[in-house]
Amino acid sequence: LERQAITDSLTGLFNRRRIFQVIQQEISRYERHHRPFCLLLLDIDHFKKVNDTFGHSVGDEALRSFADILKNMGRQQDVVARTGGEEFCILLPEVNCEEAGQAAERLRQIIARAPLDLAGYSVSITASIGIAEVEANERADSIYQRADMALYKAKANGRNRVELAV
Ligand code: GH3
Ligand code: MG
Ligand code: MG
Repeated sequence: LERQAITDSLTGLFNRRRIFQVIQQEISRYERHHRPFCLLLLDIDHFKKVNDTFGHSVGDEALRSFADILKNMGRQQDVVARTGGEEFCILLPEVNCEEAGQAAERLRQIIARAPLDLAGYSVSITASIGIAEVEANERADSIYQRADMALYKAKANGRNRVELAV
């Protein structure tokens, strides 16, 4: 039951509740040791079109494949979660925003270049990514909100791109 409470049932990733616990832990660590961390928020571009074109169950399959890419791409210590719908979050411990920017750009390219194999269809998707690095005296909801605003900027600037929070 405890495990269920922190797991996203569709993808097996951590859920929104768990990623906020991890952000809180990382903030405490940052306050003690002044080690940076970054938060990446990812939102699949025009995902409605995948559902409309191929149906909801293929859409679900797309979300599982996308989750697998995120899980297999990063380092051991990275924490990956599905925070809702077609929105995902990755916490990168011990990483500043320059390094996070490079990691996010690599991930963006991998997603854009490798079409998903879904029920016999080859489906190309892209994702927009917002990044925030932890700041002094920051709360979990505040770093999340800054990353979300960066994600919004990535959408507004044309999608399939990475933006850094101010
Ligand atoms: P944008 O590029 O602006 O992000 O466009 P979008 O179509 O991805 O964004 P929007 O938020 O308008 O739509 C998200 C869609 O994701 C709507 C919903 O049908 C779909 N969705 C959310 N959760 C699930 C799910 O669990 N399974 C499936 N198959 N679809 C989902
Ligand atoms: Mg969305
Ligand atoms: Mg979307």
